[in-house]
Amino acid sequence: MITPAPLPAPKITTPEQVTATGVMVCFAVQADKSSEKKYVSIDRIDELETSAKTALAQLIQSGEIEGKSGEIVQVATGHPSAPILVVAGLGKTAQRTRGKILETGAAVIRRLVDKSRAEITFLVGDAISPEHHDALVAGTLTGCEGQHLYQSEPAFFVPEKLAFVGVSPQATAEGETLGSSINLTRRLVNEPPTIMNPTEFAERAKIMASEEGLECEIWDETRLEKEGCRAILAVGRASTSPPRLVILKYNGGGDEAPIAIVGKGVTFDSGGLSIKPSDGMVDMKCDMAGAATVVGAMRAIAQLGLKRNVIGLCGLAENMISGDAYKLGDVIETRSGKTIEILNTDAEGRVVLADTLDVAVQHKPSAIIDLATLTGACMVALGNEVAGLMTNSDDLCRTFSDAAGQENEPVWQLPMFSLYDEKVKSKVADIKNVGEGRWGGAITAAKFLENFVGETPWVHIDIAGPAFADSPKPHRDAGATGVMVRSLVRWVRDRS
Ligand SMILES: [Zn+2]
Repeated sequence: MITPAPLPAPKITTPEQVTATGVMVCFAVQADKSSEKKYVSIDRIDELETSAKTALAQLIQSGEIEGKSGEIVQVATGHPSAPILVVAGLGKTAQRTRGKILETGAAVIRRLVDKSRAEITFLVGDAISPEHHDALVAGTLTGCEGQHLYQSEPAFFVPEKLAFVGVSPQATAEGETLGSSINLTRRLVNEPPTIMNPTEFAERAKIMASEEGLECEIWDETRLEKEGCRAILAVGRASTSPPRLVILKYNGGGDEAPIAIVGKGVTFDSGGLSIKPSDGMVDMKCDMAGAATVVGAMRAIAQLGLKRNVIGLCGLAENMISGDAYKLGDVIETRSGKTIEILNTDAEGRVVLADTLDVAVQHKPSAIIDLATLTGACMVALGNEVAGLMTNSDDLCRTFSDAAGQENEPVWQLPMFSLYDEKVKSKVADIKNVGEGRWGGAITAAKFLENFVGETPWVHIDIAGPAFADSPKPHRDAGATGVMVRSLVRWVRDRS
């Protein structure tokens, strides 16, 4: 049995003096106005040999290096211990956002992981503003993680050491926290579903919690029964891997009411009796990305020592088929007492979240944010790179949108007009787990969830599109993306 590579953990340093060794990386920027003389700035290039400077000057002169965003050029230096210099373009001022800086760090690493490398040194100078230094470091780490976990011939080599010259130890540590937490989220999603079942997911959350000093409670099927979590139990009933509910607690904010972040954790979604075709089922190990995002974000929040109280809840179940499977037409009395009629067993995420949100509400949070790979309808509406936001509190939603904007993770709010309320009313129970046909499916799913948050200000984030990618990009592998970890951390950090 092949065991997957451990999570990437290159040794990260912040040397004060530059030593020309291994691969050196520097950055080029473009002038903002085309009327200005063609201009490329290279930072700290004095550290390299004369031959490298000459080669570089020629490449700049000839236009081979333009400093455009996304441009990566490798230059031979002629230096015996640092034979390769990588020049990464950052574009014009407006293009040098946190998101782009992170992507640049990741893209540079992804260019270099085809070979085993002892050391990569980033010469970070004025080209990157200090408030984005952590994003660069985070990106270099996310570039080290991919979905190739079970290949017997490794074709991907994590560098042993990454050095950041000109970056403060604090920014480096924060970037390392962010990058490694995003990688944890991605790893949880990328693991095969038979491995990452509810029990194993809960176990990994527990390990993270003990490493970071978080409280961790795991409800097994007996406890779920006792707690009245009949909705979670119904979805998980047909699986040989029983459901779990994970509660993580971080206390950084004294006596204040906690913030709750809640994740959908359907570790595999066959659709149940409303079975999915193979094409729709093939990536359904990713249906726990919301819960994985909660675990990654809680880790980062704890490591950064943010001065807030935060509770993370993961509702975990595997949606399978057996003689005991929950059925269409079933009525379930949820933990809250509200009854739901099941009209499609593939709309199981909202059923799991019904009980999970109810447990969150019991902790009297000041706000709830839930994350879920909930609907294909959200992808139809917004495409597969944008998360949909739905809320009962426009003010709260604005604060989250602002945080996501600062991190350059695209989100878009969808309306929650009361006219949609009708669409989830059931003739048999209080509500039903589907809307009316396909129309407005992302919103009717959110309307269903709204029944379980009471008066608590709440934002629902549908990450069905951006959580899992079909194809790679220069800055990341295909598979799990770790989307929204950064935005959540930013939002918790900025929330006053
Ligand atoms: Zn489903």
